[in-house]
Amino acid sequence: MLEGLLLAEYGESIAQQIADGYSYEHPVTVRINTLKADVGEVCFAFAEKGISVRQVPWYSSALILENIAESAVEKTPLYAEGKIYMQNLSSMLPPLYLEPKAGENILDMTAAPGGKTSQIYALSEGKALVTACERDKIRYERLLFNLRRQGATRVSTLKLDAATLDDFLSFDKILLDAPCSGSGTVTPTNPIRFSVEYLKKCVKAQEKLLKKALRLLKRGGTLVYSTCSVLKEENEELLKRILPQAGAQIVPIEPFEGIPTLPSLEGTVAVLPTELYEGFFVAKITK
Ligand code: SAM
Repeated sequence: MLEGLLLAEYGESIAQQIADGYSYEHPVTVRINTLKADVGEVCFAFAEKGISVRQVPWYSSALILENIAESAVEKTPLYAEGKIYMQNLSSMLPPLYLEPKAGENILDMTAAPGGKTSQIYALSEGKALVTACERDKIRYERLLFNLRRQGATRVSTLKLDAATLDDFLSFDKILLDAPCSGSGTVTPTNPIRFSVEYLKKCVKAQEKLLKKALRLLKRGGTLVYSTCSVLKEENEELLKRILPQAGAQIVPIEPFEGIPTLPSLEGTVAVLPTELYEGFFVAKITK
């Protein structure tokens, strides 16, 4: 089913590359929480434990760990103290494109478990006014736990459906890391349950949240829309349909050097799933 859609959307050669990407288990990758630690300290602590790390050329806070399982990383003091956060490299992109700055009023609309919220907060050196919204009760609890552990103490949290946020609110910057089919995250141990009905449900939710994000965005503000899906319905087709109605436009972004990409709408970045990267989509938008 998913294979058929990918074939129709990308053609045989690229659909095969995506299928190849699905055949890997990704190595553990971590983001250094710069509120609590620096690269030197983290690399030293891993080296002491005999764990080799590779740095990521496009992000000094990202590390690829060799030959270690997530469960072993969870037992390290670095993890327990919130000095590192396990996050796929693709998932570190949206906050980088959002470029959070001190004093900005930033909304993370669908925030749990909070990887990107804490990254946004850390990128602003703890000086942005971040509001994180999450609808699901259990995931909201996880968000609170992670924010606390990461030292993201001044993030305001809301346990609600972001589509119900009051239209009188307005934000300088918004991240909509939308709920999606997860078609970028397939691995041998994580096959997704996929159906056309489920995809339609995802697109409907994305459309509703995107329209709300565009209403809450200040004129001249920045919205980053992302999904961990490689399906065009959830990404570029949605943007092509919704942005013109809201008087919004794509602000062109470029993939960082070395990131494997898929063809996508001009000015947006779609990441090809590979051994290292989950399939992902990011677009920067303004109105
Ligand atoms: N940004 C998160 C991170 O990096 O840790 C991951 C977000 S995940 C892709 C999408 C989240 O949106 C899920 O936790 C889901 O429960 C939440 N969600 C879905 N619909 C929502 C809504 N209408 N309002 C608020 N949260 C919602």
